[in-house]
Amino acid sequence: TRAALAQAQKMETIGQLAGGVAHDFNNLLTAILGGASLLERRASERLDGEARKLLAGIREAAKRAATLTHQLLAFSRKQTLAPQVAEVNRLVMGASELLRRTLGEGVAIETVLAGGLWRTCVDPNQLENAVLNLAVNARDAMPDGGRLTLETGNVLLDESYAAAQPDVTPGQYVMVAVSDTGTGMSEEVMRKAFEPFFTTKPEGRGTGLGLSQVFGFVKQSGGHIKLYSELGRGTTVKIYLPRHLAEGDREVVAELPYADVPR
Ligand code: ADP
Repeated sequence: TRAALAQAQKMETIGQLAGGVAHDFNNLLTAILGGASLLERRASERLDGEARKLLAGIREAAKRAATLTHQLLAFSRKQTLAPQVAEVNRLVMGASELLRRTLGEGVAIETVLAGGLWRTCVDPNQLENAVLNLAVNARDAMPDGGRLTLETGNVLLDESYAAAQPDVTPGQYVMVAVSDTGTGMSEEVMRKAFEPFFTTKPEGRGTGLGLSQVFGFVKQSGGHIKLYSELGRGTTVKIYLPRHLAEGDREVVAELPYADVPR
């Protein structure tokens, strides 16, 4: 559709702009960080407590800025990835255990892992990072508690699905979905959610780079990401990563549990 195409082109343009800025910033920050660290090491004894505190402040701020630029670079697909054949179920399991320890009492965590899950070739650290990012958003959308569901599945995105989504290559994908029973998103928030620095969270709580980073990682991995959300009911974010066919794997389509339909 034309609106979807325009949206994809817009994201592409923002990505190029953000990537250029982030790249230059990264170089500058490296100089700032390096300088501050060197000063701390070489001149620390000659500095009084006040100056040392200031220096530590500079280093901390530069570090945070570096984290932000890395998230921006991820959005613009300019991060270095280390793809390997990943065991997605195990990774999701690990993430759910981590979340159980960190998300607190109010959030019930459910995992629905597909048996016989296909393999995909991605950077496992980045995939874990993406799942955790989505889970933190889910938690933030459920201030009074609720249920977080992590789900995996084998999915065929067919020609008819791709026809409505200009940035989708039809094919077989490993799906990871993160769902919550939270506030949901308005149409406007959904349209802007992947844009860098778009946030509805109060100052200091959100950077607006979480979903951008996930978007960039998924795109750079040759995948696809889709939002489903309803105000007052909750949100599902589905990530599709291309199936990795190893030798001996059969490319059976008839046995697919289900094919996703565009909504
Ligand atoms: P941040 O979390 O720092 O705001 P994100 O890019 O991760 O940045 O998210 C952008 C915005 O999208 C959020 O501020 C929020 O409005 C909306 N959003 C993201 N995930 C969810 C969710 N699971 N439920 C409701 N709204 C969400």
